[in-house]
Amino acid sequence: MLPRLFAIAFLFAGSLFAQGATNPEWTTPFPPHRIIGNVYYVGSKDLAAFLITTPQGHILINSNLTTSVPQIKKSVEQLGFRFSDIKILLISHAHIDHCAGSALIKKLTGAKYMVMDADVPEIEDGGKSDFQYSKSQDMLYPAAKVDRVLHDGDEVKLGDVVLVAHLTPGHTKGCTTWTFKVSEKGKTYNVVIVGSPNVNPGYKLVSNAQYPQIAQDYQRTFRVLKSLPCDIFLGAHGGYYGMTEKFAHISNGGTNPFIDPAGYKSYVADREQAFNTELKKQTKGAI
Ligand SMILES: [Zn+2]
Repeated sequence: MLPRLFAIAFLFAGSLFAQGATNPEWTTPFPPHRIIGNVYYVGSKDLAAFLITTPQGHILINSNLTTSVPQIKKSVEQLGFRFSDIKILLISHAHIDHCAGSALIKKLTGAKYMVMDADVPEIEDGGKSDFQYSKSQDMLYPAAKVDRVLHDGDEVKLGDVVLVAHLTPGHTKGCTTWTFKVSEKGKTYNVVIVGSPNVNPGYKLVSNAQYPQIAQDYQRTFRVLKSLPCDIFLGAHGGYYGMTEKFAHISNGGTNPFIDPAGYKSYVADREQAFNTELKKQTKGAI
């Protein structure tokens, strides 16, 4: 009972992100590594950042916290690439743990920042228009100018890489799941980087004046996620796809542990069930 009480007290005491901002796994460095083909991990132990390299420059997905920027830069350089060759900056969604470093990365690299339409107001006002966290000082981040507004299904191209932006809303209004194809040893694989299917503590799924269609948006997200072909399962947090466990297996050689279509399917099913449980709970509470 006691741990449960503590958990409840904690949720009411402040945002989960206040806890998250001090979550050591967000800031603990992690060895940068090649995932498959020209796709690399340059994030921390839990905050994922991905580098996709091309001879025409690189794409970075997620800038993470402002303090993550030197860590990301170091990881890029450890892999033998130049930070200044990042030409395009993308994000999973407009929350401090995935986008706070963007203003600084833009300044350091001159990368073009491309963001899904419904997340653009938050990105450009530093989180002040966020439906949930606008009043939480610890959730705000440096505002950054968006260079290209993306819409659902838009392609982002650099060199021979083509990424597709899928609107998977609910967690934020413009939450984005990225897909693309990657080749290795004559085989082509479908990569999915999940934006976030998670309902944060305190999110109102019923009668939410700030975000009336939130529940329908989550339902849309699960439809989209279930429709995407996936061989390589990645996500905005390493925890989504068991990054640290999979990383331990690459050291052993053999098959690539990041090829995990079954893991993707069970993750999406599990998150959909969690959403449905929460929706049911809130719907009952509302009657
Ligand atoms: Zn988030």
